Amino acid sequence: MDRTPASGLLPKPPAEVAFSAARVRADFPILGTTERGKPLVYLDNAATTQKPTAVLDAMRGYFEEYCANIHRGAYAMSAKATDAYEGVREKVRRLINARRTDEIVYVRGTTEAINLVSHSWGLKYLKPGDEILITEMEHHSNIVPWQIAAQRTGATLRWVGLRDDGTLELEAFDRLLTPRTKLVAVTQCSNVLGTINPIVEIVQRARRVGALVLVDAAQSVPNMPVDVQLLGCDFLAFSGHKMCGPTGVGILYARRELLDAMDPWLGGGDMIREVRMEGSTWNELPWKFEAGTPAIAEVIGLGAAIDYLAGIGIARIRNHEQGLAAYALERLRGLGPDVRIFGPRLACHRGGVVAFTVGDVHPHDLATIVDQDGVCVRAGHHCAQPIMRRFGVAATARASFYFYNTEEEVDVLIDSLRRAREFFQGGAR
Ligand code: PMP
Repeated sequence: MDRTPASGLLPKPPAEVAFSAARVRADFPILGTTERGKPLVYLDNAATTQKPTAVLDAMRGYFEEYCANIHRGAYAMSAKATDAYEGVREKVRRLINARRTDEIVYVRGTTEAINLVSHSWGLKYLKPGDEILITEMEHHSNIVPWQIAAQRTGATLRWVGLRDDGTLELEAFDRLLTPRTKLVAVTQCSNVLGTINPIVEIVQRARRVGALVLVDAAQSVPNMPVDVQLLGCDFLAFSGHKMCGPTGVGILYARRELLDAMDPWLGGGDMIREVRMEGSTWNELPWKFEAGTPAIAEVIGLGAAIDYLAGIGIARIRNHEQGLAAYALERLRGLGPDVRIFGPRLACHRGGVVAFTVGDVHPHDLATIVDQDGVCVRAGHHCAQPIMRRFGVAATARASFYFYNTEEEVDVLIDSLRRAREFFQGGAR
């Protein structure tokens, strides 16, 4: 929609301010394809995002032009691969405004980043009587590693509950945060409810009792500006594949002092300074945590994805998604009173994720029917079973948007859902 004033009295915004989803779609080969003879409507971006040509080209460039292992090679091609791989660290640092590149550890994804912390920090520092505070809206990858760490160390897991509108019971933090709390592990944006959590406030409360804070940023870094210094968090985890990058690469950000004090989780090549038969010493940060040949092409692809997103502007991405979420909420509510939407009422309190159910139609049936119309939405527990239990459902359908989605695609989803409901409920009555 053109929002430029018609009067011509106001100066025109600079060209780079205008954002057009239609224009960026041309950068994604897959978005021009069809599914079951219908234009593809990809609304499963919280699961993974599509890849622009720039990312595919960067990875292909590595494989076709300078495919070599990194760090060890004395020859030019290996040096080129090393520079490309290491250069991405600075892009990541800038993206999240970390102080230093040695606070950026390459991992396979959010899940591995959290497991690295639960092993390297948790198993070393947690002891019986300590508490880890998590919330009921966490993805399994920010629950299970803490259950394992608690089991192994004798620490206890405590849970912050959810209000009916899908926001955190912030009052509970005051009740549950005590000097026993050693870590708060919380998502910045829920992959089911869409809720955006007040991380700065949570960090301030955690600091009062001396607890560290880990932020699961899998759904925030791809979609909104994230500044680790502003947040004040100690650890932050995210995945490349949810931000136009490839699978198999993600980031753990951690404050340098913490990484310094933590022991390596994986042992092997590259993470050592010296190996002797009687024992080994560790490499400098961040390589101490990067054992073995890493995902070189994937890191290079992630770098291209960060450049691509920066070219669009993360704030503009956030804006567009919020607009789409608002539109989707309005259209879903308009479908009828049997549509149940989970999470905050207002789009400004959520990311581009909308989970819902329609009457008593099973979410898997909904997803299967809309698939006939070329629409990809997810159905299930979304790796967040405690949320399902909290709201008394076994599963939901979920549409999740990225900057390349359009209101027209939301319309296709709504029309398709209407047909799905008629098919299941009309036929049964
Ligand atoms: N946390 C959240 C909030 C997520 O949405 C996801 C992915 N669905 C993860 C963690 C796990 O990410 P990955 O599978 O890339 O490790």
